[in-house]
Amino acid sequence: MGRRRLVLATANPGKAREIAAILGPDWTIEPRPDNLPETIEDGDTLRANAVKKAREVAAATAAMALADDTGLFVEALGGAPGVHSARYGGPAADGVVNCRKLLAELEGKRNRRAHFETVIAVVGPTGTVGTVSGRADGIIAPHQVGTDGFGYDPLFIPADGDGRTFAQMSPEEKNAISHRARALAKLGELLVRTD
Ligand code: IMP
Repeated sequence: MGRRRLVLATANPGKAREIAAILGPDWTIEPRPDNLPETIEDGDTLRANAVKKAREVAAATAAMALADDTGLFVEALGGAPGVHSARYGGPAADGVVNCRKLLAELEGKRNRRAHFETVIAVVGPTGTVGTVSGRADGIIAPHQVGTDGFGYDPLFIPADGDGRTFAQMSPEEKNAISHRARALAKLGELLVRTD
């Protein structure tokens, strides 16, 4: 059998390289075709949004497709921002704005527990669906610390770390314990299952 195609629901070259490295030479990893309209992420869960994104790409390419969706779930906020993490601070919000809003919402709250979750969905050319997830537990820092990473990294102190935020860690340190890395570690098994 020749190399197999896996089309990503993202055009992010960093994600493509990471997945290519995990899967090895049996797979050809392709970016999201640029003529595809963006998926409207209106699902109630990370899983629903990841499956929707992968399904649209699989249907358009007749190949196996992969999508991921991530959220930060804060206990004292009833799980917010959760599935709405990307636009928490408004329609054009970036990481800094989202972090600022999160700190404001948490003012005066003693419970700072939170977790990141990533769901990866794979949809086969005939519509078979498989998902895996990865999680990182931690607490929300009292203010933003660190300049590496992105999104909520300056506010997230992982329980499996040494008290630093994700934004104070090198990519290697973050990848050893992150939600996304933990989900990606299950990707090989997911592809076998979804075949
Ligand atoms: P996406 O599903 O990967 O687009 O992630 C949704 C939102 O969650 C992003 O806009 C980021 O704000 C946030 N996010 C996702 N992954 C991470 C992470 O590893 N660290 C910090 N924030 C993240």
